[in-house]
Amino acid sequence: MTATPPTIAFIVPCYNEEAVLPHTLARLITDIDSLVAGQNIAAASYILLVDDGSHDRTWSLIEEASQAHPGRVQGLKLSRNVGHQNALLAGLLTQIGKADATISLDADLQDDVSIIARMIEHFRRDPAEIVFAVRKERSSDSLFKRGTAGLYYRILNWLGADIIPHHADFRLMSDRALRALSQYGEVHVFLRGLVMQLGYKTAVVEFERLPRLHGETKYTLQKMLRLAIDGITSLSVRPIRLIALLGVILFFIFLGMSVWVFWTWLAGHTVQGWTSVMLLFLLIAAFQTFALAVIGEYVGKIYFEAKSRPRYIVEKETGTKSDNG
Ligand code: UDP
Ligand code: MG
Repeated sequence: MTATPPTIAFIVPCYNEEAVLPHTLARLITDIDSLVAGQNIAAASYILLVDDGSHDRTWSLIEEASQAHPGRVQGLKLSRNVGHQNALLAGLLTQIGKADATISLDADLQDDVSIIARMIEHFRRDPAEIVFAVRKERSSDSLFKRGTAGLYYRILNWLGADIIPHHADFRLMSDRALRALSQYGEVHVFLRGLVMQLGYKTAVVEFERLPRLHGETKYTLQKMLRLAIDGITSLSVRPIRLIALLGVILFFIFLGMSVWVFWTWLAGHTVQGWTSVMLLFLLIAAFQTFALAVIGEYVGKIYFEAKSRPRYIVEKETGTKSDNG
């Protein structure tokens, strides 16, 4: 166990969360105070609220809170809605070098903050660079969400993706892990998969996911689908490989059929013109499926090479040292 309590940055992405934010802040501030009093974390620990282009009063609530709790509450406003994953990434990467570790959690308090002390224990004692909070059961989620999530984790597993089932983004990451994460330049981030790629020592803490405190889910079906597709395509090239394999199999089937067509022609069982048409067709079909397989392999490579556009733009900050109004 490290002698001095670590400084922890609590990163909370917020999209139109005016209904829940005051409650979440009150709870987090109380919890941080008692963690500081119990010498679990340093007094310099703080909450960073990332406003992901909200259209409601979220940002003004963040500004007010940062003035009411100088240093303890800080804010970051993104210029537009870039989605949960990118908003979280903005919060994490801007805190490199500022805290010993970050803990990311949702604004709606579905992530049970009472396990935070245990997460910090793992960071200090193990010491684990990454601590995953994993949902023990999901009765607070709708039947649809539970079913699709279960199926999704099975598919990811089958595709060979290295991922911890039922871990969303409630997670502790050391400063070192953050620095490593910052080297991934891809645009479509699927953080829970990316952090597994870092290869650092990890630990798991289980919790029961609570119902959303106020407001409605900010994950529309479209956003959920987007996340699911990003998860698969950022962790696995196996779908492309499967298509390529299919292409090669079809190539051989078409070649075999060409032999058969030629054979029937030799045996004289064909209508005139059929053989040449069939041979030409099979040849083109075989070539195309083979070409598709080869191109698929290259497209897969390009996809993994071309991940270096900016992922977010910070519009302004509040409660931080570089704050200029
Ligand atoms: N969120 C965000 N940008 C978005 C959508 C969601 O920052 O475009 C945040 C949201 O404010 C919350 C977290 O991501 O803090 C998880 O969203 P939500 O609780 O609505 O998802 P659910 O728990 O229903 O999956
Ligand atoms: Mg939620």
